[in-house]
Amino acid sequence: MKTVVITGGAGFLGSHLCDLFIKKGHRVICLDNFLTGKKSNVAALERDRHFVLVEQDVSRPFRVAGSVHLILHFASPASPVDYYRYPLETMRVGSMGTHHALELARAKKAVFLMASTSEIYGDPLVHPQTEEYWGNVNPIGPRSVYDETKRFSEALTMAYRRAYLLDTKIVRIFNTYGPRMRIDDGRAIPNFIAQALKNKPLTIYGNGMQTRSFCYVSDLVEGIYRLSRSRYHDPVNLGNPREMTLKELIVFIRTMTNSKSKIVYKPLPKDDPKQRQPDISRARVLLKWQPRVAVEEGLPTTIAWFRDRI
Ligand code: UDP
Repeated sequence: MKTVVITGGAGFLGSHLCDLFIKKGHRVICLDNFLTGKKSNVAALERDRHFVLVEQDVSRPFRVAGSVHLILHFASPASPVDYYRYPLETMRVGSMGTHHALELARAKKAVFLMASTSEIYGDPLVHPQTEEYWGNVNPIGPRSVYDETKRFSEALTMAYRRAYLLDTKIVRIFNTYGPRMRIDDGRAIPNFIAQALKNKPLTIYGNGMQTRSFCYVSDLVEGIYRLSRSRYHDPVNLGNPREMTLKELIVFIRTMTNSKSKIVYKPLPKDDPKQRQPDISRARVLLKWQPRVAVEEGLPTTIAWFRDRI
């Protein structure tokens, strides 16, 4: 039985990864300081004797007893509203946190996989985004606390690989949605679903013509599982290439919730990317992976989950 350490394991993606790795027969040690993650996300796993939950801020040095085979470094606030609220925590976990997680990988001779993001492409001038694109990032804007630490984390991961021959992987995660997103995390899908279910106005930032490409969480974690087992070390995009404007997204959500909500337009946040779509050719070839859940299927499941909690 292999042991997997998941930093940020009580977060949205982290908790789905805990579920998946337990299901695949691994022992999972979940580290989280519950800044944006929630204990309830992993409550069902706490009865499993192969699951261990440890309250830990990975920005501070930490130890893990026994052997560790794989480290998934997912600790970080990830929604723009969260990282505007916690700019320094975001920078610490994406710098010191990554450093400590890499040191653990080195000490345990473990495979290291870091959660990077489509945000490293910034407001992209190349469309769709391939892994070769270096991005268009404002280094001092409000989003930089996230974008630049993720870029730093990628650089540090590659430096550890070169210096210590560590077995490392980098996944660049595009917009993902599904059950366990926090209803108040401020992202487009939870906001629109909550607003639609309450028949409150849907808040579009800007003119709603900006695009995103939304991946259902089960597809994303399956891709991460495959990447963790691959021999590949350069970054790999994972996401759903089906691109839509926010206005198109709202039509889906309004129809699926039978909502009468009106639309209100609010100012566009600074440096909000105008377009985003992953080129997933690399993942298709290397991991034989592609998303299987369309928004027509993933959104109703997500809406049902939120409906139960509103
Ligand atoms: N957005 C919006 N209304 C909201 C929340 C978000 O129009 O209530 C927009 C946001 O400005 C961005 C897009 O939706 O253009 C996706 O935002 P999200 O926060 O989900 O993630 P991002 O892709 O920006 O990291």
